[in-house]
Amino acid sequence: MRPYILAETNWKNLKDADFDLAILPWGATEAHNYHLPYATDVIEADHIAAESARLAWKDGARVIVLPTIPFGVNTGQADIYLDMNLNPSTQFAILKDVITVLNRQGIHKLLILNSHGGNNFKPMVRELGLEFSNMFLCVADWFKSLDKNQFFDEDGDHADELETSLLLHLKPELVLPLEEAGLGHEKKSKLKALNEDWAWTERPWSQVTDDTGIGNPKKASAEKGEKYFQAVTQKMARFMIELARADKDNLYE
Ligand SMILES: [Zn+2]
Repeated sequence: MRPYILAETNWKNLKDADFDLAILPWGATEAHNYHLPYATDVIEADHIAAESARLAWKDGARVIVLPTIPFGVNTGQADIYLDMNLNPSTQFAILKDVITVLNRQGIHKLLILNSHGGNNFKPMVRELGLEFSNMFLCVADWFKSLDKNQFFDEDGDHADELETSLLLHLKPELVLPLEEAGLGHEKKSKLKALNEDWAWTERPWSQVTDDTGIGNPKKASAEKGEKYFQAVTQKMARFMIELARADKDNLYE
């Protein structure tokens, strides 16, 4: 039983407990090329949150990891079989209810550990931060926390070499042989501005990629995944430790 994982601990441990920081991992359930499981983002969220919290706990930080929310925003994948979608407004309602509990129970710092590119918590953190002025709310995208080029050969952002390597490290029994994976080729928009960083539209996923992946997974390996996992959890753990110890009313110098 890990005392920093809410799903595993018990009332005996918790009735007099006092945590400084809650962590809410948030994933998605969606197709990941031909070879990775639909729960890829959930598996990543579970493991990255748990290992980072273990390191933080070992350092004395009082952190508690809430159960991972398994569904994310998949509005652009409506025609991909059994990609599950939570609308942003539903996500907002869930987040608000979670924050309401934490606020009432006196845990005034929350880190949303995001594992899915379609989830965008920033506007929600703005609105809920205004409403719950006693709470410190923040969000971290683990997949943006490190320079991927230092770990992987091929670029990508969905079921790519990075995610495939992570899953080969974390859950190899759920990864099909890489010969069965598609190449994850991404089709670019005919509208030039949309291929740059300053204009955006939701991409109908099935028109952007044939195999649902973006990024070639063929050079993935468990060794690369392990190296990345260790680096990403060490970085996340340092953030958790800092957050847990921070005075939320005195954060700027
Ligand atoms: Zn993913």
